[in-house]
Amino acid sequence: MNEERCHICGGTDFEKRQVEYIYRRHGNYLVVRDVPCEVCLRCGERYYEGAVLLQIERRFKEIYKQLAKPQFAIEVPVEVYA
Ligand SMILES: [Zn+2]
Repeated sequence: MNEERCHICGGTDFEKRQVEYIYRRHGNYLVVRDVPCEVCLRCGERYYEGAVLLQIERRFKEIYKQLAKPQFAIEVPVEVYA
């Protein structure tokens, strides 16, 4: 963690974890599992390295431009709350 304090809650305790990250752009989604981040132990805010986010964005573009195939795909039900 570069910053010593969480910018949300001011907490100072962080833990490295691997989490599921959902990248969403213009109604398209890419789910990336096992993404490394640091989590604020007080409020749960996640902090990612810039290089990690850039890689996810690059994969998103490759997949949606059909330059690459995802490892697998899932179907997601959608509902409008009423
Ligand atoms: Zn926090």
